[in-house]
Amino acid sequence: MSGRAFGWTDTTYSQLHAQEAPALAEAVEQRLSGRTRGEIAAWLKERGFTGAGGGEFVSSSIGAIFANPRLAGLVRDPDGNFVPTGLPAVTSPETWHRLQEIEAADLVPNGGTYEYLLVGLAECGNCHHLLVGGRDSRSKPIYRCVRKKGADNCGQVRLRASLLEEFVATQAVAELARPGNRDALVRAQERVRSELRRTRTSLGALVRRRRRLGEDANDGVISEEEYQAGLLEVRRQKALLAREEKVLQAAADVSLEESPEGWVRQWNHSSTARQAALCAALIARLEVNVQEEAHRRDLEPGRVVIHWRGMSTVTAS
Ligand SMILES: [Zn+2]
Repeated sequence: MSGRAFGWTDTTYSQLHAQEAPALAEAVEQRLSGRTRGEIAAWLKERGFTGAGGGEFVSSSIGAIFANPRLAGLVRDPDGNFVPTGLPAVTSPETWHRLQEIEAADLVPNGGTYEYLLVGLAECGNCHHLLVGGRDSRSKPIYRCVRKKGADNCGQVRLRASLLEEFVATQAVAELARPGNRDALVRAQERVRSELRRTRTSLGALVRRRRRLGEDANDGVISEEEYQAGLLEVRRQKALLAREEKVLQAAADVSLEESPEGWVRQWNHSSTARQAALCAALIARLEVNVQEEAHRRDLEPGRVVIHWRGMSTVTAS
């Protein structure tokens, strides 16, 4: 591309364009809130904007604009790291990186990677094992209880990811915005930290148990078969605890905004990983129950039950 970029008055990115820069900032916000590149191109066209070279905006030109790190006042150094230029920008580095995640996710065809917000948190209301991410027959992301060899997972629950995630997100933001809840959350986070310490103690105990198993097998106190069975159990428990540790660590680390407006902003501008951490900080247990009515497409009453951390309230769909 020759000439200046849309949003700036010159080729050196030293001055923002008075009309284009605010429109570009707004376009970024729209993309973050889920509008497609095509919709944004149409919106800019409608407002009389053309590309800096005079061309009409289309989906791909919007994609090229969004990919430019200059949007956030960044350039790549020779090692490929993003470094600040100190020049005027239309968005923050944090927002621009989030934008890149959204752009990348959109380029992945259906069936590609999907970030499951609630894996490690959502559990089967029937057998209480954790739900895992999967795909339905039309390759739409779902949460489901999966039967496993040697475990008693029931395999009865499956729910479209978008239904569950939208419900939980709406409830989480509403919960965050309720007066007084921030204090409750700060206390909840303290409890998360002590839970984290307990989980780590249990992990340490598992390591000792594995060592003892090895010693017992060497000494002939237990048979090879008993040793293998013991090892399998240790591995299974370790996987569960390690996942719990990860969720708790994220919940303990997430920063808590002061104001309700801050919460909503924080939620809307967060990556999936950060939203997941916020959910973990807020929610002690999230149960998804078996669907009673076949073919129902919306969320059946009582299908999803949220147990908030540090609060006595329970929210059900
Ligand atoms: Zn189950």
